[in-house]
Amino acid sequence: MRWSRTLLNTLRDNPQDAEINSHKLLIRAGLARKLAGGLYTFMPLGLRTLHKISAIVRDEMNKAEAQEILMPALQPSELWERSGRLETMGPGMFKLKDRAERLMALGPTHEEVVTELLSNEINSYRQLPCTVYQIQTKFRDEIRPRFGLMRAKEFIMKDAYSFDASMDDADKSYKAMYNAYVRIFNRCGLDARPVEADTGDIGGQWSHEFMVLADSGEDGIVDCAACGYAANQEKAERIIPEKEAQLCPAIEEIETPGIKTIDQLVSFLKCKSSAFIKTLIYLADDQPVVIIIPGNRALNEHKLKRVLQAKKLEMADDATILSVTGATAGFAGPVGLSVKIFADNSLKNATNLITGANKADSHIKNVDIERDTDVTAYEDLVIVTAGDCCPRCRERMQIKRGIEVGHVFKLGTKYTEAFEAKYLNDKGESLEMVMGCYGIGVTRTLQAVIEQSNDKDGIIWPISVAPFAITILNLDPSDDQVNNVVDGLEKELTDHNLDVFIDDRNERPGVKFKDADLIGCPLRVVVGARGLKNNSIEIKQRSSKKNTQVPVEEAAKSIIQLAEEMFQRCNS
Ligand code: ATP
Ligand code: MG
Repeated sequence: MRWSRTLLNTLRDNPQDAEINSHKLLIRAGLARKLAGGLYTFMPLGLRTLHKISAIVRDEMNKAEAQEILMPALQPSELWERSGRLETMGPGMFKLKDRAERLMALGPTHEEVVTELLSNEINSYRQLPCTVYQIQTKFRDEIRPRFGLMRAKEFIMKDAYSFDASMDDADKSYKAMYNAYVRIFNRCGLDARPVEADTGDIGGQWSHEFMVLADSGEDGIVDCAACGYAANQEKAERIIPEKEAQLCPAIEEIETPGIKTIDQLVSFLKCKSSAFIKTLIYLADDQPVVIIIPGNRALNEHKLKRVLQAKKLEMADDATILSVTGATAGFAGPVGLSVKIFADNSLKNATNLITGANKADSHIKNVDIERDTDVTAYEDLVIVTAGDCCPRCRERMQIKRGIEVGHVFKLGTKYTEAFEAKYLNDKGESLEMVMGCYGIGVTRTLQAVIEQSNDKDGIIWPISVAPFAITILNLDPSDDQVNNVVDGLEKELTDHNLDVFIDDRNERPGVKFKDADLIGCPLRVVVGARGLKNNSIEIKQRSSKKNTQVPVEEAAKSIIQLAEEMFQRCNS
């Protein structure tokens, strides 16, 4: 392919809305263009990379014996009612009506459609196990679409679904997909790490996310260097060192006029935030509950939702707070309340704490949790932070940032129950199939590769997913000899299944070098009249500073050998 015949414009300046490197480079290198917030067009070079990633995904899915299908993106809303997710997905799902006023959804994911499909197609244990997948556009009305392709409203996902006869068989399918994911990200040149994850609204038994470590990542990853435990911060657990109960004087009231927040209390009473109990009132499926955690910690709503097994969880409104505590927000405390109280594990045996008095402008001190409150249950309720103890080995853990590129879930029978997706076993009994679901954000993966692999000059593509393996810079496009050498090289390289992009523009060499670095094809070959006078062609790897001069007649062989080595590295 030749630049002069390609719809490709590189940009000198960063797009204004781009906060992270990969977003800037995606646009500057001419790979994609923005239509509106969260909506992007793939340009010719970007689309080539997208196709290469999809091909790797497809290859590994097929090797794992998953079968490719393609389901509609437009889905009747009744399916979502049957699974109970019409409500839980909330405004994140794009909904619309057809001309007969039937409510439809643009699929954010396909558990409902696939379970309905397979409930009709599978009758007997002889048809199991069965895993299907598709590579398809998904729609999500994200609250904050940003970071380019990372969090888009419309994006491409590979989603796979496994159906098995038993929990044990489902574990095998899960493992097969997990292993395929490890290979996929490896082949894309990505350093992606599996971490334990929350199962969220999708439900199910357990799950792992594949995280690309990057400072710009939106997810926190809790990491234990000692034993290898790694989990999404949404899900991560911690162990609390045992505490001895201490003697505690009787409760005393303190006046705190207009002092409502922990920060205000810290400066007003001159003590640490850990000396306070943070009291939070929530509505769990419309029932008020009180949550207490140490004043220096943040509640993990995902954990709370799991503990309460609530479908819907929201912070209580002012009226509820008043009716539960008898005071306005800011003065709530757990002492003397008659609704259920859930306390963080770290408050077990805790004494000498300060909390709201359930009375305007007052707090109380010397609170002894065991003595003074009626806790329903102690649970792990807070967001794990650096320095917390590992739930496996008790060592201190760290926090890293990551981009979620893939997610595998063991779902169990949540959807097959709702859709009565049953099969007959060898004894003729009718049983629900056991499901797993597995997603890769194909478009997000593309950008994650850029985020992980770039320098100040541009992208450094791994050869497996580069728009082109090789870019040839023709420094003198009006020189016949140069053109002949370039054409000859192109033919020889493409005959070896290597894709070649030729910069044949009438531009200064400096411009071509800059653009080659920005676009980041892994091998750069420079052919110019001056070099040819010495019978020499320059070869350079994008990832290295060094370039080598080779005689014209040896150039193709050297390039092919280098490219083969690079491919081997991606596949190992
Ligand atoms: P996130 O937590 O980032 O919102 P998710 O957990 O909701 O993602 P899944 O439902 O697990 O996403 O979807 C599978 C994969 O699809 C994710 O691992 C991610 O790579 C990709 N993905 C999800 N949402 C988006 C989005 N808005 N834009 C691009 N890719 C996305
Ligand atoms: Mg996910």
